[in-house]
Amino acid sequence: MGNIKAVIHRIPASNWIIKSATVSQESDGKYYISILFEFADVVNPYVADKTNAIGLDYASDGLYVDNNGNVGTNHKYYRESHDKLAKAQRRLSRMQGSKKHETKSNNYIKQLRKVNKIHRHIANQRLDNLHKISTEIANQYDVVCVESLNMRSMANRGFGNGKATLDNGYGMFLSMLEYKLSDRNKYLVKVSKWFPSSQICHCCGSLHPEMKNLQIRKMTCDCGLTVSRDQNAAINILNEGLRLLTEVA
Ligand SMILES: [Zn+2]
Repeated sequence: MGNIKAVIHRIPASNWIIKSATVSQESDGKYYISILFEFADVVNPYVADKTNAIGLDYASDGLYVDNNGNVGTNHKYYRESHDKLAKAQRRLSRMQGSKKHETKSNNYIKQLRKVNKIHRHIANQRLDNLHKISTEIANQYDVVCVESLNMRSMANRGFGNGKATLDNGYGMFLSMLEYKLSDRNKYLVKVSKWFPSSQICHCCGSLHPEMKNLQIRKMTCDCGLTVSRDQNAAINILNEGLRLLTEVA
């Protein structure tokens, strides 16, 4: 083949050894090559500061809300590009339906590639966004506390939100956080999914069973506290995560 143009995502160091390479062609017609390198692991001497911690509560309409009330945004690429995709898909199905165009015609294949290209574009943008946010958090914090979630039940939680839930890739986000924190000698602490993070008043500790109703977006407690549902949950996740961390460490 000779030399070919390529986009290289990470520059290997001079002491890395190539072990294998896998070439694949995706449905959009583009070629991808994934290269496996081997190198000696350098022991990271970093000692995590356990007071530099953050708690994240999953949010179906964003990505997460942290204990300070900040929202981690997950751009709705799928929705933004939805019109474009729908248009391309309608055109494709019209081609499939008409007798003039056999399913294997050049125009049909061209259009199919176009649809697949939009799909891939959306997937890449989403992945980039998740990488960007998880890297920022892993750089900034030494301990990240999250709720371990059952992704399948989440898709049904608060019906009507299923699409947003499946779209925002929270599970992928958590696995990125896990390895990025581990690379830096830092901690990802998973709090049990049974821990009632949204029902406990983080201020006085009293239990609010009414918060099981997802429609209630604010907690009002007899102790005088009024706090957003998500921020309160994130604070509880942070406190519980830190408690678990001191238990094992
Ligand atoms: Zn209270």
